[in-house]
Amino acid sequence: MMEEAPLQKLEAPLWQEQGVALWVKREDLLHPHISGNKWRKLKYNLQEARQQDHHTLLTFGGAYSNHIAATAAAGKAYGFRSIGIIRGEEHLPLNPTLALATSCGMQLHYISREQYRLKSEPGFLQELRAQFGQVYVLPEGGTNLLAVKGCAEIVPDIDVDFSHICCAMGTGGTFAGIVAGLTGEKEALGFPALKGGAFLRQEVEELVLAYSGQRYHNWQLATEYHFGGYAKVKPELLAFMAQFKQEHGIPLEPVYTGKMMYGLFDLVRKGYFPRGSRVVAVHTGGLQGNAGFKERLGVEV
Ligand SMILES: *Cc1c(COP(=O)(O)O)cnc(C)c1O
Repeated sequence: MMEEAPLQKLEAPLWQEQGVALWVKREDLLHPHISGNKWRKLKYNLQEARQQDHHTLLTFGGAYSNHIAATAAAGKAYGFRSIGIIRGEEHLPLNPTLALATSCGMQLHYISREQYRLKSEPGFLQELRAQFGQVYVLPEGGTNLLAVKGCAEIVPDIDVDFSHICCAMGTGGTFAGIVAGLTGEKEALGFPALKGGAFLRQEVEELVLAYSGQRYHNWQLATEYHFGGYAKVKPELLAFMAQFKQEHGIPLEPVYTGKMMYGLFDLVRKGYFPRGSRVVAVHTGGLQGNAGFKERLGVEV
């Protein structure tokens, strides 16, 4: 059921000048419909849902959420009903993400931004269970300990000897999985997509500790590459993405992977990585979101 997520070596003059090698781990190719890290995060949750005899997945997200799209596609592929609790009002026609979700059979329910803040409160979850019956609840972004377990498997799936691994961050679940998977060896570097991403240090520490019982110190966050905040873009980011795609044939998206790759190239330029470093950048997927970006910004991404 899983496709390959091959490693692709990039030949870029900047990297050669700095004596640093770069591979992209193409998690975006992992599954035809359930993109990248979201598939890693869902894998053990789907097993658990089945084991608990659940037939319906319920989860949360914004109107352009990759996690909503992935949960809907996974539900369809593996025989679960799915319910998406969407932040904000309904807008018709549905944007490409929500149109994809409904085409996979996901039932959408819109709640106000105020209500949405309650999404992990036990009382609110109780209300949802009263309304929707027996459901397997996935938190926003799909991050829980089973998701960390799935993402830890990215590490042994890399078959070159690397010194550094880089990954974009939303909730930090994927990065926590990578840190857990490294078991203290090599270096991990996370790129928060949100402004003020330093709070993710604690999230990652707590997730890794809860999952593995360990505290590791071989990881850092690069918090300067958010481009103004979550889902905010700047012309230089879009220009970088376009050039990257043209030179390497790898599409990125502006919310996560574009920012990570931009940051990574900037750090290489600034000599962050010692000569001889061998860096793996994880392409976490999310390309479904580009259709919505094109619609919102009127620019090709
Ligand atoms: C959701 C997502 C992330 C962030 O993953 P977290 O586990 O929430 O940190 C990164 N990249 C892409 C493409 C995503 O869709």
